[in-house]
Parts: sequence; structure tokens; C-alpha cells
Amino acid sequence: SAIKRTALKLGMIPADGIGKEVLPAAQRVLEALGSSIPKTTFIPLQAGWEEFQRNGKALPEETIKILKEECDAAMFGSVSSPSHKVEGYSSPIVALRKHLDLYANVRPVSSVKIPNQSSYHQCDMVIVRENTECLYIKKEEIKTNSDGSKIALATRQITSTASSRIGKMAFEIALRRGKEREQAKSQGKSVWWNGQPKVTIVHKSNVLSITDGLFRESVRSVKESTNRYDSIKMEEQLVDSMVYRMFREPEIFDVAVAPNLYGDIISDGAAALVGSLGLVPSINAGDNFVMGEPVHGSAPDIEGQNIANPIASIRSAALLLSSLGYVEPASRINAAVDAVLEEGQYLTPDLGGKSSTTDVTEAILKRL
Ligand code: ATP
Ligand code: MG
Repeated sequence: SAIKRTALKLGMIPADGIGKEVLPAAQRVLEALGSSIPKTTFIPLQAGWEEFQRNGKALPEETIKILKEECDAAMFGSVSSPSHKVEGYSSPIVALRKHLDLYANVRPVSSVKIPNQSSYHQCDMVIVRENTECLYIKKEEIKTNSDGSKIALATRQITSTASSRIGKMAFEIALRRGKEREQAKSQGKSVWWNGQPKVTIVHKSNVLSITDGLFRESVRSVKESTNRYDSIKMEEQLVDSMVYRMFREPEIFDVAVAPNLYGDIISDGAAALVGSLGLVPSINAGDNFVMGEPVHGSAPDIEGQNIANPIASIRSAALLLSSLGYVEPASRINAAVDAVLEEGQYLTPDLGGKSSTTDVTEAILKRL
């Protein structure tokens, strides 16, 4: 929500691998906004696999304490996971989501025309994934039948509380995107999605009528219980048909909201539509805190070479600002990124270019 602030404190957690290269790029871009955002202090914080190897903790208490007590929001880089199970190590990002009650993962996926690249479908959608329940509560058991065969069972939890709050977030995002598009149009910019803002509820309630039925009903009633969302169209897609249509005609989607597992799968699928993991941003959001995070991992294969694409991280910073209510500076960042991509002169190798992380960052700064 847009709280009036005179100053902003951002926790910066680069963590591992290319996170240490792309997060500073996002910081430079935020710094370049000058007085169009409140005076911003960046607080460097530790977490990750490298931190675990140094000090035995993947998420130091100090980091949680500072995030909770001092920071308005945070940016996260990327975390490496060891390829084998290591005693005492668990992912700091999962723990952070729990500690800060970041119940939604929000991923905008939008295509950009890059010169000399095979053209992808036009697409500009946001996937809003529930982040706390569904099959990911990890209640699994295995039993042996009397004939020696095995049966494995997993519990899937869907609650009306978690489903309504994720639904509300999806409708709020659709409202905000609608406003952003109107603003862009009034400035003479072209927008791909010209229709009414739309929320698509993704489920499989024809088969899982109780669990997905509750998800569907809870999200529907968010809209039906108020007139705040009257301007937003609500539709539904069964998850299998959602995947098919997303690949055939992604341009028909605006905001899609899904339970945890479906959301996980369709959001990686959607990232594939736009060409590189290095382009896709996300935020982890709750009612009281928000954390920007590029979708990609720590990319150990390209770490330390200054060739990682900083755009996912820079776009995550824009998304963070926009969710804090600073919509105009956020769209300035996005416009600078799009301009650099469309110009095609400064591209990192994942997009077929030869530029470095620093070159791309500086090209974006120049546009800003
Ligand atoms: P992790 O276990 O941390 O997820 P990973 O090996 O799965 O590591 P990812 O970061 O998920 O690596 O990346 C998958 C592939 O995409 C790698 O080949 C990586 O180099 C590439 N990639 C990911 N992010 C970027 C980026 N920002 N710029 C360029 N290439 C990237
Ligand atoms: Mg990975």
C-alpha cells in the first residue's frame, strides 16, 4: 500500500553466486532515481549457502531482526543449494518467507522485442502464486501394504483464509495494472492489453472439487463481496487448459491467480515464453513486508565473470517500488530497461549479446 514515507530503508541480501553481481546493479538503478523516491538507505545483510559455510547459519538471527525492526522492504539476490543434503542447512528464502509472512509470490512475465531474436508471443501477464500451503505443506507418508507393495500419500491443504488473501492480492494487482495502463495510454504509449483488467482463477475443481473448489469459491467471493473490483473481469481456467492457452495465446491473460503447486509450474512455464531467466522478476509479498527477488538461481556456471543479466534484478526493484506505491519511478525503470532491450546494442550473452553486467547496467542508467 502507498504509505507516505520520508525515508526508505531497504535490506539488501545478495546471498550467493550471481546474486552478488546483479543485486548491486539494482541498487545503482534505485540510487539513480534521486528525489523521485524517498531518501533511501541500503542495509547490507547476510544469508545463503556461502554464509552457512562461513558461520554455520544460512539465515543469521541478526538478518531477521534488522529486516523486521528496521527495514521497510528488502531485495534478495539468489541462493545456491548444495547438491547433496547438508546437516543443518535449509534454504534461507523459504525461512524468510515464513518469518516475514510473505504469502504471495508475484511474477510479471512480459515479452520485449529484441532485435535479431526469434519473436515470441506478445505477452504481459502477472502470475500470483499462493506461497504457504497446498501440497507444499510437506505432509507426506509412505506405508507398506500387506502384499509388500508401497503406498505414498501427501496431504493437500487449502484454507479459505489463505485463498481469500491471495485472491485479494490478485484483484489489487489487477486494479493497479489497469491504472498503470491508463496512465501509459494517456502519455501516448502503446499497451498490448487494451481490454478490461482481468483476473483468471486457475484450478482443477472439476476433479478436486473439495480443495480446488474451496480455492475457487474463496477467490470468487473476494470480488463478489465488494464493489471495489467491479471494473475487473473474473474468469476461470482449468490448470491443464491454462498451460495450453498460455503457450498458444499468452496475450489473452492479465492477472492469473493459482494455488501453490499450479502457480509454481505455470510461472516457470511462463518465464520460458520470454526467452531468458535473466529477464524475469518477482516479489515475495505479505501484508506488512515485501521482498524483491529475481526468478533465476545463483547460476554457478557464469558466476564471477560479470556476464550475468542484471535485468531480472533491476525489474524486481521496479516491482518492489510499485508495490510500495511508487508507481511512476517504477515505470521509469521499466521503460529504461525496455528501451535498452529494444535498442539491442547492450545485451548480455543469454540474449545473444556480448555485453557485460556492468555495460547493461550503465546503458539502463543512461536511459534513466
Ligand atoms: P541454482 O541451483 O542456484 O538454481 P542453477 O544451476 O539451477 O543454480 P539457475 O540460476 O537456475 O542455475 O540458472 C539456470 C541457467 O540459466 C544457467 O545456465 C544460468 O547460467 C542461466 N541464468 C540464470 N540467470 C541468469 C542471468 N541473470 N543471466 C544470464 N544467465 C542466467
Ligand atoms: Mg535453478
